[in-house]
Amino acid sequence: MISQDTIERILSVSNVEELVGDFVTLRKRGANLLGLCPFHNEKSPSFTVSPAKGIYKCFGCGKAGNSVNFIMELEGFSYPEALKYLAQKYNIEIEETQSRPEEIQHKTDRESLYILLSAAQKHFTENLQSEEGKSVAVPYLKERKLNQKTVDEFALGWSLSAWDGFSSWALKNGFTKEYLLRSGMSVEKQDGNLIDRFHERAMFPIHNLSGKVVGFGGRILRNNAKEAKYINSPETEIYNKSRILYGLFQAKKAIRQHDLCIVVEGYMDVLSMYQAGVVHVVASSGTSLTEDQLRQIKRFTDNVILLFDGDAAGQKAALRGINIALEQGLNPRVVSLPAEHDPDTFAKAFDAEEIANYIKENAQDFVQFRASFIKEEEKNDPHFQSKIAKEMLESVLLLPDTLKRAFYIKEIEKILGLSEKVLYEETKRLQVDKFKQENKPHEVNISVPPQESSQKQIEITQHNAVLAQEKQVIKTLLLYGDKPYDETQNICRYMVQELEGIEWEIKDCERIYNMFVEAICVEDELFSLAKVLNVESTEDQNFISHLILTPHEISENWVRVIGRSIVTPEQNYLPEIKSAVLNFKLRKIQRLLAQNETDIKNAKSDDEVNELLTVHMHLIDMKKQLASEIGAVIIS
Ligand SMILES: [Zn+2]
Repeated sequence: MISQDTIERILSVSNVEELVGDFVTLRKRGANLLGLCPFHNEKSPSFTVSPAKGIYKCFGCGKAGNSVNFIMELEGFSYPEALKYLAQKYNIEIEETQSRPEEIQHKTDRESLYILLSAAQKHFTENLQSEEGKSVAVPYLKERKLNQKTVDEFALGWSLSAWDGFSSWALKNGFTKEYLLRSGMSVEKQDGNLIDRFHERAMFPIHNLSGKVVGFGGRILRNNAKEAKYINSPETEIYNKSRILYGLFQAKKAIRQHDLCIVVEGYMDVLSMYQAGVVHVVASSGTSLTEDQLRQIKRFTDNVILLFDGDAAGQKAALRGINIALEQGLNPRVVSLPAEHDPDTFAKAFDAEEIANYIKENAQDFVQFRASFIKEEEKNDPHFQSKIAKEMLESVLLLPDTLKRAFYIKEIEKILGLSEKVLYEETKRLQVDKFKQENKPHEVNISVPPQESSQKQIEITQHNAVLAQEKQVIKTLLLYGDKPYDETQNICRYMVQELEGIEWEIKDCERIYNMFVEAICVEDELFSLAKVLNVESTEDQNFISHLILTPHEISENWVRVIGRSIVTPEQNYLPEIKSAVLNFKLRKIQRLLAQNETDIKNAKSDDEVNELLTVHMHLIDMKKQLASEIGAVIIS
């Protein structure tokens, strides 16, 4: 483990402006720097770096963070990898703390497996130069039209025909039987001797995001009905099949540049596409596309093209992939290949530009794609129509974005010729079913009711959070109320306008807030702190003085909501004002959401549920809107 001391040193010397500047051309804009975002495609710069705060934020795609986050995002590094990168850049020696024995064991286990697999990869690649490799494997690679650059880039190799070609080589070179078995590279026979998992196969090493070999795929070259065409390494401590995408390590930079990831099915598909010049391509290889794999893609782009064979199996796989991608907030489209092609033959028949054009012209969103294989006999059958509409709407409901939902409902309306009203009703019905499904009470309730004291503790904490936030609003009013917000109004007027209709929970705060409201409503003249302070009740006097005199602080609750503390000098009070207002609203909405959810659970009729669900969607939209405004305020 990297010591806390080292981490702090790395963070204190790493300069976000300089680090980002290694990858992005930045220009000065006020106190900040501005450039083209490396995380999404844009023509006018919206990627902002704040040297003073040590953070970056893109107003286009929303990516934000500090130096460590930047390099993690950009290079797909893990946290320790990012720290090591920065340490190297700034010449800081990494001090590792004493790990617990089991941690050391675990670490050396993983390290040993990486070392073994890396050696295995080199061994297989060298085998290409052996007599056997030259006579069998090299001609095969040539026949598949793979050039040396592709072979090198993907570190292809050959496993010997001997049953223990690799195992005996590895034992001779000091690797232990234990790790050979744990890595899945060797299998133990009954007599205790080892044989290879892979023999007489073309070897495709599978890399993780940082480029380490974690497993292999092997393809048989002879036609042999008894053996599988492809076999893969088993899952191990370092190879999680549902998380790894074949080719992602080689493709990640291109995926970011194109803001697009093409997903194909197999190793050869990736290699042929790569060689045709289509570099932003990966394969799920060995599993059907999983949530985790799509989440890996989402680190680099939101746009996914699923390139599948046009047959029924391909369609089914594509539909499944689409739904998982929609759920992850990705923007998936499907490209079906011409009937005579699979991705491999397709990539060999065309060049990069032709492939890009074909994809552009034939990419279908999920509605168009599902509609494309409606059978002739289904077209005028109302039963099929509603079945297909339901299928499409189920996909629509996976979209986190309500605007996008409306867009697709319109599209379904056009394609299926159903009325918008019918579609919305069906959507509501599906939504209710889904909600009920997800909120089904458990049959056996084994949870213990909270102890009275802990329940009380929760209430006290909640009360404190409310108090802190409402106090912060009053304090802001007291300190800055008479300062200008813009040319037309002062802070007091702005805040009263923004907070109109919001209920206060703390009586003291509400009473003082109402004084401000009166001050502007009744007298309609410039606000004066003196006037507000001129209160009769000593209780209010106390409350107010206490608020003004406490050192500048922001409640923990705020820090939690925003994720970092805000330090605002006196002369730059506007962000603080905006934050105070936005956060105040945000918490109100969170409370309304919680209340609404309880109401939905207790609703007596479907109509009532429908109505409450509409409220729910509305609140979610407001919450998102507020959250993005809060994000914008922090850095501006
Ligand atoms: Zn961006």
